[in-house]
Amino acid sequence: MRTSHKEQALLIQHARQAQRSAYASYSNFHVGAAVMTDEGEIFDGCNIENSSYSLTICAERTAVFKAVSAGKKKFRSIAITSDDQGFITPCGACRQVLSEFSPHMEIILTAASGKKKITTLDKLFPTPPDLKKLSRHSSKKNSKK
Ligand SMILES: [Zn+2]
Repeated sequence: MRTSHKEQALLIQHARQAQRSAYASYSNFHVGAAVMTDEGEIFDGCNIENSSYSLTICAERTAVFKAVSAGKKKFRSIAITSDDQGFITPCGACRQVLSEFSPHMEIILTAASGKKKITTLDKLFPTPPDLKKLSRHSSKKNSKK
């Protein structure tokens, strides 16, 4: 199920609000994200940087992890905001994390000007790892014992 224009606007609003909480001391690049669950609940997140750079987490994963920790694992849509004039897209790590839960979810990219562009995760991440292979492999391994 896709989101309506009204729901998209609401998600963008939540992402922009979360963007204000970004902890971006090193890049000064503030990002916000908001996911909508299948039931219509919204969870938001911001990027959180760290002096040990690899510990930094993106806004998209912050939002998804907040939702998952609240028991939500199916998402219809995610909005991503920044102060950039262009559309910023999720990084590879975030694409994979989003794909774990909702490989066909809608992605709402926004520009600082207010322009938006709608795409889907399967367009941005067309060949995710086949999770069924993992479980088949795991059950084969367990049956040998
Ligand atoms: Zn990312």
